Amino acid sequence: MRQRPACFKENAATSAEGTRYDRSMPGFTDLQERLDSLRAHNMYRRRRNVGSRQGRAIRVDGRELLNFCSNDYLGLAGDERVAEALKESVGRWGVGTGASHLVCGHTEAHEELEATLAEFTGRPRALVYSSGYAANVGVINALLSVGDLVCEDRLNHASLLDGGWISRARFAWYGHLDCDDLDRQLATDANRKLVVSDGTFSMDGDRCRLDDLIAVARRRDAWVMIDDAHGMGVHGSGGVGLVDPARYTVDDVQVLVGTFGKAFGTSGAFVAGSEALIETLIQRSRNYIYTTAMPPAIAVATLASLAIAKAESWRRDRLVSLVERFRAGAADLEFVLPESASPIQPLIVGDPQATLDMSRALEERGCLCTTIRPPSVPEGTSRLRITLTAAHTDADVDQLIDALEEVRKASDDETRTA
Ligand SMILES: *Cc1c(COP(=O)(O)O)cnc(C)c1O
Repeated sequence: MRQRPACFKENAATSAEGTRYDRSMPGFTDLQERLDSLRAHNMYRRRRNVGSRQGRAIRVDGRELLNFCSNDYLGLAGDERVAEALKESVGRWGVGTGASHLVCGHTEAHEELEATLAEFTGRPRALVYSSGYAANVGVINALLSVGDLVCEDRLNHASLLDGGWISRARFAWYGHLDCDDLDRQLATDANRKLVVSDGTFSMDGDRCRLDDLIAVARRRDAWVMIDDAHGMGVHGSGGVGLVDPARYTVDDVQVLVGTFGKAFGTSGAFVAGSEALIETLIQRSRNYIYTTAMPPAIAVATLASLAIAKAESWRRDRLVSLVERFRAGAADLEFVLPESASPIQPLIVGDPQATLDMSRALEERGCLCTTIRPPSVPEGTSRLRITLTAAHTDADVDQLIDALEEVRKASDDETRTA
């Protein structure tokens, strides 16, 4: 029998039957129960509506608050020059790319951004992704498969963990910053081995021990992948981040990931590495291939913010002094802060309800410090992830410290009377 052309509409006789889903299918009936349970355990999350540009202060649900929870470390997300660059480029490029990079969505603007990023990171090549989440999952997936091993720090960002799990490689944790544990995990047979770590850890602000990590990886024939989403722009000469090309070549850190949504204040991400790595990603990385290219105007805006981030080193100096000011103030109040030289300064509260209470009390005093609760952080380590940006003034930090003092006093009084 001749085959029916696939483009012909199906008639009743040829259509498949019984594929319609029962709307009362068991398994989906407990959604509300699960939501209720989240609420009961103080794990329910709620979005806030921001009504202004990002900056040291933002309007949240109609109220002006000092902003101590963004990743806009250099204060560039609302920068007028970056906004102007985007506006101008929309005039030339319009908004959409129309397709993925491999079809017809890859513009000269993307190409220029990639060349600039390769130079910035001192790598042979760079590849732009639409988001850091996509880049991390896409890279690990393109590199690893059955028979391979991926070793990840326990506190790695969710996107790195997801990439490892989806890749079908054997997944191994190692203790946070524990290179001896990493060494043990790598002492096994595998086709390819990849060590994956945050550069600056997103929820704690501490840094990976890059020298030790590279030494262990080299001994065990593993590649090193560093996601420096929170270090780039913030640390190093010209804001190059933890993986300074003057110290670490592509033979030390084979895969380097950076994002644009944090210090650079735009949106998107990139991977930098060898020619072979980048070509492999273009050919094999599903998160690169099967997605619409980011708007070229975002690429142009990112070029502008990259140039500002490199040139205006006062923003990094400013951050250092604000971090010192905050830490000194918090220490005077006898708050315990984990070791962190980054603008991420977590106040670890522990209990989710107590964290929510503290966040609310600070908000009443004009400071926005949203809570971070499991599963974003380990059980029992709910926190206020306080972040500073170059846009803050000394007076802003002092207001936060004053608010913390009042909250502390109120809590001490309560404990005394309880
Ligand atoms: C934010 C973040 C990402 C995700 O980047 P997006 O561009 O926001 O998707 C990846 N890794 C780390 C460590 C991050 O903090």
